[in-house]
Amino acid sequence: MKKLLAGLLAFIIAGSLFTGIIGVNRKSTASNTPKTTPDATAETTTSPEASESAESTTSPEESPAPSPSASASPAPSASPTPSASPSPSPSPTPTAAPADKKAPTIMVLYANKDISLGENYDVKSGIMYVRDDKDGDLPQAQTLSNGTYTIQTDLDKNKPGKYTVTITARDKTGNESTERFTVNVLDKDTKAPVVMVKYAYHEITAGDKYDYKSALMYVRDDKDGDLKEADKLTNGVYVWEGTVDVNKPGTYILWIKAKDKSGNESSENVTVVVKGASETAHLHPDEDPVFSDVNSLLIVANKTHKLPSGYEPKDLVNANDLGAKGTIAPYLRKEAAEALVTMTNDVYLQGVTLMFSSAYRSEAYQKQLYDGYVASYGVERADRISSRPGYSDHQTGLALDFIEGKGVDFMQEFENSASGKWLHDNAYKYGFIMRYPKGKDSVTGYAYEPWHFRYVGVDNATKIFSEGDTQTLEEHFGVEGGQTYK
Ligand SMILES: [Zn+2]
Repeated sequence: MKKLLAGLLAFIIAGSLFTGIIGVNRKSTASNTPKTTPDATAETTTSPEASESAESTTSPEESPAPSPSASASPAPSASPTPSASPSPSPSPTPTAAPADKKAPTIMVLYANKDISLGENYDVKSGIMYVRDDKDGDLPQAQTLSNGTYTIQTDLDKNKPGKYTVTITARDKTGNESTERFTVNVLDKDTKAPVVMVKYAYHEITAGDKYDYKSALMYVRDDKDGDLKEADKLTNGVYVWEGTVDVNKPGTYILWIKAKDKSGNESSENVTVVVKGASETAHLHPDEDPVFSDVNSLLIVANKTHKLPSGYEPKDLVNANDLGAKGTIAPYLRKEAAEALVTMTNDVYLQGVTLMFSSAYRSEAYQKQLYDGYVASYGVERADRISSRPGYSDHQTGLALDFIEGKGVDFMQEFENSASGKWLHDNAYKYGFIMRYPKGKDSVTGYAYEPWHFRYVGVDNATKIFSEGDTQTLEEHFGVEGGQTYK
């Protein structure tokens, strides 16, 4: 209200000083030395639109032309008698001059208005009223005709900057007045990103495949566009939180959290219910030659399936002889060895060096290893970390262990090593899968081994990996596994 009164006051003063001051002021601003102007206060009272914050509003030099009210009737609005006598006695002179010489009054709510980029803002909200003593409130019009007002502005709410809104009013007698205010479109993003999910609730049966990413439609931000997925929530990205264990019935909540570059955040969640599976039929490897024939690339060696006694692949080759870059001679079946050569050459070009520990192991060598573990740790632990002779994946000639040589070999931490990460992300492209993924002890029979990879061919490896990085050979094909020797 104070502001309004000040505005009104400024308007009145401006009206009365109008004709004399406009020229002086323009001259003083042009010389850029307003402080030397004898009457410095004149500057703040020159134009009718100037309120107490005149300096920050439309200054005369920004105005396209001398305020249109300059052409308005010179009649000062506040003093009805231009030839005012010093003592304004309420003269009852009945010199009834019916001619309307008073310009309309435009009252604005502010001199400056800050809005956010793209904000839904209506310039009319800045006008309190446009009134005329004689004609009453004036209606808005497209073009200025009698008894109306118009609004002119080049405001672009989607482009940061300062914009002038000019309101011009004319009464029926032709008296005009003008007001202005400034709209400042801030280059500040205050709108949170939009996370749009495809569904809020999803039901699957235990053992089903489920890609949690199918829950998301998009994460978008008005200002920043589509946001990218990231590991951690930083600027201009989104992250997933929560997991769904498709093998464990229960209710899971997945969160998608987004943050734009200005720090605005938003999130959405999806409920995924995993229903108890009806007994999944497990095929014993012996029931299908593809899993039991030693010549098959999908030969399964696990605690449920023992390899033929004394089995040794016929096409074992030394991958180093074929040109594989690595430390020791990895003996593998030919197709696996060739794939390893391609892989090690590619990875070498990417600046990562893969080293091998062991590939093919004979049944006799496996016996030595296993017996050693039993001697050190006892049978129970030995069975979790090593195979009994005849049951080892290494004996197939299709598996090998990678090492880094930096203190994390044969440890879960290998997953964070350069080799471990590269293998996790890329091995499938060469036909290798992580044979003992995390949390699948009950399926594979072994604890997590991020270093042990098994060749199954590019097609199979790609399919298995696409089902998730903890998908197993057993689960993918519905082949029996487990932790108990049979
Ligand atoms: Zn191994």
